[in-house]
This record gives sequence, structure tokens and C-alpha cells, in this order.
Amino acid sequence: MTTTATSGEAAVATLAQPAHVSPSESVLQSMYESAARLKLGPEVVDLLRTSWREVRAQLPVRMDDRKLRIFEGYRVQHNGARGPYKGGVRFHPLADLDEVRALAMLMTYKCALMELPFGGAKGGVMCDPSRMSETELNRLTRTYTQHIGMVLGVNRDIPAPDMGTNAQTMAWMMDAYGQRYGYTPGIVTGKPVELGGSYGREQATGRGVATCMREYAKLEKQDPQDIRVAIQGYGNVGSWTARLASEMGFIIVAVSDVKGGIHDPAGLKIAEVDRWFSVAGSVAGFSGAEPITNEQLLELDCDYLVPAALGEVITEENASLINARVVIEAANHPVTLAGDEVLTARKIVVLPDVLVNAGGVTVSYFEWTQNIQQFRWSLERVNAELESRMIGVFNELMARSAKDDVRPRQAAFDIAVERVGRAIVLRGFV
Ligand code: NAD
Repeated sequence: MTTTATSGEAAVATLAQPAHVSPSESVLQSMYESAARLKLGPEVVDLLRTSWREVRAQLPVRMDDRKLRIFEGYRVQHNGARGPYKGGVRFHPLADLDEVRALAMLMTYKCALMELPFGGAKGGVMCDPSRMSETELNRLTRTYTQHIGMVLGVNRDIPAPDMGTNAQTMAWMMDAYGQRYGYTPGIVTGKPVELGGSYGREQATGRGVATCMREYAKLEKQDPQDIRVAIQGYGNVGSWTARLASEMGFIIVAVSDVKGGIHDPAGLKIAEVDRWFSVAGSVAGFSGAEPITNEQLLELDCDYLVPAALGEVITEENASLINARVVIEAANHPVTLAGDEVLTARKIVVLPDVLVNAGGVTVSYFEWTQNIQQFRWSLERVNAELESRMIGVFNELMARSAKDDVRPRQAAFDIAVERVGRAIVLRGFV
């Protein structure tokens, strides 16, 4: 597939399978397929093919050893037909422009699928936060915010945390933005509760993932107590998924993080894993289970496999080795296009990222709403509204998948692309 086609029609016509598909080409292909099914006009497809705006910034930071390091940062705004741009900021060595662009596109469709009044954006800084001190991260975040501040705004673009960033990062971003433009809590979501963050935001993505798992189990007429789950990644998303799914009765047989994984076929005691994690800073080394590698975790005999760390971990090479019935995409873009083909041929169901991990942006929307209204919701209200929205969209997506005889990912894109395309036409963009 090429992304250099000059019109949407040409782009739709060039869906060949290349040797390597980059993350943004991969999202584009899903969009092209939906556009073809929906018979979207070529001008609408042209608008969706590229980003509205891409800011690339040089970020000089004085490190603790007094040496100057120059980082590279991005903010990509993909499409804002449905509202202000919304999307996380990733601090990761591999967060290059193509990855950030792909994630911005995914946000456009995720927000549309969840019926949130937002467009899609994403930010990234190529850095390794695990090798930086708190003061270095503070300076880097402020420099990044200064460089992209001109394209942010409560009604323009609202960042949030993603891999390698957290509530503290958002507090620094809010402060740096406020110093220049005045106190504006609604400029970021995922803030600490003390600074206007929403109750329930920290666990929201994991809650959404666990809710999708429970709803899928219901569809299968299975009891969570009979379902063995392996989770890759024990950061915000993976650890909350493990805690909440375990509370729902699922048997969590394995978890992992960048340092390695642990496996207990009888089910891990998540509270004990958490206690170990708080001391060791990793699940690796937990004595109550056998050690496994991340590769072994992906290939483990289990029912639901939940990649909740990096993208592109299930590929054409290892998809034939996956031993789960269902892959629950908690991370963004964890399955490559070619990997998806292999899984589908093997009748392994893939619940797509645009639905599965949308709990985070949904509660970010609630946080933004609360900030605008200067009115705090209770935790119970946040969780109830999140659950009801996740269940509603899950059912809509699975019904569309069955009606049109397409995979859940295709159904998700069909619903989302249709909504974005309609907004583009109504706004008069084409
Ligand atoms: P995080 O930084 O809190 O945690 C990431 C986890 O992945 C850590 O446990 C880390 O050790 C592990 N990891 C990193 N490199 C790894 C490797 N090479 N092999 C195995 N594990 C590795 O990040 P997060 O916020 O939990 O995000 C995880 C994924 O979920 C990302 O794809 C992110 O885009 C997506 N996501 C996050 C949110 C959110 O609200 N945080 C929302 C939507 C999607």
C-alpha cells in the first residue's frame, strides 16, 4: 500500500500487501477498507489520509549532569471535524513521527466510536523516562509544553497521559501552559485529583478493558471463573486490568512488564503481585509464580490474551504461535495487519483497541466536562457512566459485526469512519 496517492480513489485502489506496513499505513488501511464499504467520497478520504497539523519540535533540556541534550517531540492533530483534538502524550524511545501519526488517527476513530465530541491527536517525545530523573522529566515536559502550547487549548487540543507519562506529567503540563496563558485546568486531562482531575481516571482504561472482557464472556455464555487471562504490561492499563478483571472472577494466569513475566496456571493472587511490585518495581522476581519471558507470555495456553504494553507485539511471525481464543487489544495497535490476518484465519477473535482501551479517553471527556462546569462528579457516577457507555458501544459494535459479517475491528472502523465522514460533510470541509 502507498500513502502517496494523490486522491482518495487512488488510495483505495492501492491496497496491495507490502513487506512491511508502518503503524500509520496500517491504520490507513483500515480506514480505506471502511471508506470503500461505506462508499465515502474521495475528497473525504483525502482529508482522512493525512493529518490536519503536525508539529515537530526541538526540545533542548539541561540534564542533571549540566550537559545539554536535545530531544525531539511531536504533536499531531489528525482530524477535528467532531470537536477539539484529544489524545495522549507518549514518552518513549520509539515514539517517532510515524507512530504518533498513527496513534492520532486511531484517536479520531476512537472518539467517534465512543461518541465523544472530540477529534483525534497524539503527542510524543522520543526519550526513555526510566533513565531520567524527576527534575529532568519536569524540565523536558515544560519545554515540550512551551513548544506545542500554541496549538493547544480547552476548545482546541487537550492532551492526556499515555505510555511513559502520568498524572504528574499532566500537572507539569498544566502548570507550564498556565504560566503562559493563565490558569487553565481543562487544558489537560488525567491530572491529579487535587488539581481538577476526575475520580476514576487512573483506573479508567483498565476498567474499560475489564468491562469488554466481561461483556465478551457474556456473549460467549462463559463464566469469568472459567476464563484464563494472560496480560502483557503491568503499567497503568495492564495492572488495573489485572486488578479489576480478577475482582470480576477472571483467572489471571500470567502478567509481565519490560523486565519479564510471571506465570501460575492456577491463577495469580493479584494483591500479592501488587505488594511485590511496590517493593521491586517490577512483577519479575515474584516468588509465588514461575518466571516467563514476554515472548512466552504471548504464546501461553490461555483463553484471553491481553497485550497492554507496546504496539506491534503480535505479528505475522508469532501470530501462528498464539494459543488464546480471544485477543483483547488493551494497548494501541498491538496486532499488525499481517498478524491480524493470521489470527483471523485461525479463528482467533480480536477485540480492537479503538473500543477496548477507550475507557481512558471516555473518562478524560468526563474530566474535561467537569473542568468546564467547575463541578466534580462522584467516583460512583464516573464509573457508572463509563460502564454504561462501554457496554452500549460494545453491543453496537458486535451487532454491526454480526449484521455486516465483518470482523469487530472492521465494524468499529465502519461506525467511526461513517461518523467522522458525516461531520466532515456537515461542517463543509469538502
Ligand atoms: P505505562 O507506561 O503505564 O505501562 C507500560 C507497561 O509496558 C509497563 O509495565 C512496562 O514495563 C511495559 N513494557 C514496556 N516495554 C515493554 C516491552 N518491550 N515488553 C513488555 N512490556 C513492556 O503505559 P500505559 O499507560 O499502561 O499504556 C500501555 C498501552 O496502553 C499503550 O499502548 C498505550 O498507548 C495504551 N493506552 C493507554 C491508555 C491510558 O489511559 N494510560 C489509554 C489508552 C491506551
